[in-house]
Amino acid sequence: MNKLQEYIDANEKKFREELFELLRIPSISTSSQNKDDVKEAAKFLTKQFESIGLDRVTMHETPGHPIVTAEKCQHDDQPTVLVYGHYDVQPSDPDMLWNTPPFEPTVKNGRVYARGASDDKGQSFTHIKAIESYMKTGTELPVNVKFILEGEEEIGSPNLIPFIKAHKDLLSCDMVLISDTAMFGEDQPSITYGLRGLAYMELEVTGPNRDLHSGVYGGAVENPANLLCEIVSKLKNGNGKISIPGFYDDVEPLTEEQREAIHELPFDEEAFKKNLDLNEVDGEEGYNTHERTTARPSLDVNGLWSGYQGEGAKTVLPAKAGAKVSK
Ligand SMILES: [Zn+2]
Repeated sequence: MNKLQEYIDANEKKFREELFELLRIPSISTSSQNKDDVKEAAKFLTKQFESIGLDRVTMHETPGHPIVTAEKCQHDDQPTVLVYGHYDVQPSDPDMLWNTPPFEPTVKNGRVYARGASDDKGQSFTHIKAIESYMKTGTELPVNVKFILEGEEEIGSPNLIPFIKAHKDLLSCDMVLISDTAMFGEDQPSITYGLRGLAYMELEVTGPNRDLHSGVYGGAVENPANLLCEIVSKLKNGNGKISIPGFYDDVEPLTEEQREAIHELPFDEEAFKKNLDLNEVDGEEGYNTHERTTARPSLDVNGLWSGYQGEGAKTVLPAKAGAKVSK
């Protein structure tokens, strides 16, 4: 193992510079303006795989963003681990809320700040550099390793399932290691065995056929913005329960064992609140903060728009109002 650690220590700076190069690529999958950037990130990873000497390195085009695969399978009798990760990122806006530029990685207090640093470029890169360390020191890999890195995770992976179905042999494995998760604490590595999933919706309320003057029409015509707020306010009841009929039908209840395990995790609620400048935490009655954030469903408004957003006042009764909502 010494040889590996020596290689890692000796190359720390190089690893970091390469990661920063990847972090500088604004591979925002949801933005059509960044399509070339997303491809650039895929090419960068392809080159990484080639340079560390993996086999069957391929950048597969899809109807959306590319999928990169590579492997090192040396022994038939060894188990095969497929490492999954993604190289696309969420939009960085509003950029003015960033303390440092989102696509210029900055180290503060030993941490790297950049869009995608911890989701999921950093984690994916850790696996690549781990395999590189084996390859470059001539250390035999204890398992066969395959990689699949996609560029559409942040938009719901529309091309991943068709790709998997069409490449069963290429991806065949004994286990999948998903790097797209977090460590519980700085000194507490963790294995994530389940996630809550995501459903994303957009709703629009339409009223009159054009924007109206609220001084002339207000009070006589239903205001879509008022109505939207009313709808949103009814999505949850006062106890943090989501009031959409049938919402909890398929939610698996937590077992006693799971609840005990969750309660055992070291968690400082005071520090959690302090970090967010909050006096109180809030959520579904009967569950603690951990259960609420990991095992119980949530529902949040992610965006709201209607009416006049500019400086000062405009007496508008908007024709439309909209919201983005996810669970
Ligand atoms: Zn992710």
